[in-house]
Amino acid sequence: MEALIDLHTHSLHSDGSLAPAELVARALERGVGMLALTDHDTTAGLAEARRAARGSGMRIIDGVEITAGWRGQEIHIVGLGIDPDSTALQQQLAGIVELRRARITAIGARLARHPKLQHTGRELAGQVLAQAGVPTRAHLARALISAGVAESTQDAFDRWLGRGTAGHVPQEWPDIASAIAAIRAARGHAVLAHAQRYKLSSGALGNLCGEFRESGGAALELSLPSLSPNDHNRLARLAREHGLAGSAGSDFHEPGVPWRPLGRFAKLPEGIEPLHARLG
Ligand code: AMP
Ligand code: MN
Ligand code: MN
Ligand code: MN
Repeated sequence: MEALIDLHTHSLHSDGSLAPAELVARALERGVGMLALTDHDTTAGLAEARRAARGSGMRIIDGVEITAGWRGQEIHIVGLGIDPDSTALQQQLAGIVELRRARITAIGARLARHPKLQHTGRELAGQVLAQAGVPTRAHLARALISAGVAESTQDAFDRWLGRGTAGHVPQEWPDIASAIAAIRAARGHAVLAHAQRYKLSSGALGNLCGEFRESGGAALELSLPSLSPNDHNRLARLAREHGLAGSAGSDFHEPGVPWRPLGRFAKLPEGIEPLHARLG
């Protein structure tokens, strides 16, 4: 059987639930032969993933998913084959983690203005900051569930964290050019993640891909689980038009999400260079 690849996954070093070694074990069970751990804005789990895969025959690609902004929209850029010791990369990540910490603090303060969270809003945010290396709203969602004021992550976003709710705090992120530059300084390949999820018109998405390519971006994520055939075709057209390679990843965060299994998705379309062929 042909080995599967998965170039977009998370561990508990950002908002995933598994330790890197557990993620590697699960990927091995599923027949994944090439795996990239791409935590949000941190490379802290990479050494453990590498150790866990030693002797198994699995190829581990050092990765990261960098948070960035473009025209007011949050954009995620995956870096693959990066050198985690790059100072430029670590500086970019440290700046983002600072922004994240300030945002979680601000969300805690906003939540505390709501009668139901008057006494706990700040405390919940404080717990997240004490426990998470890269604090995200996903952590805060879990804290809200534990506090009994949300039933699920989705419910926590719908009630407390999403746009139009009491705890919504908009955030500006460093621009995509700086994220791509940091990845390239670390000798990695920059991949525009899950482009179908951004709320952009098709014209704007074309402009984003053009700018991404001009800034040194290498590939588009074209193969994700649960990508509709229509979106798959649309992204493949954009990749061809802008001379971008294709990448494939599950965006796995935790077991028990049946529509996001590790390593299982459509093949890359004809005529598009698979980015994994460039990764060693
Ligand atoms: P943040 O990066 O702090 O904005 O946190 C967003 C993270 O929360 C994402 O990376 C997702 O993993 C997770 N998440 C889960 N459900 C939602 C949702 N409904 N809206 C936004 N993010 C979500
Ligand atoms: Mn996430
Ligand atoms: Mn993402
Ligand atoms: Mn992701």
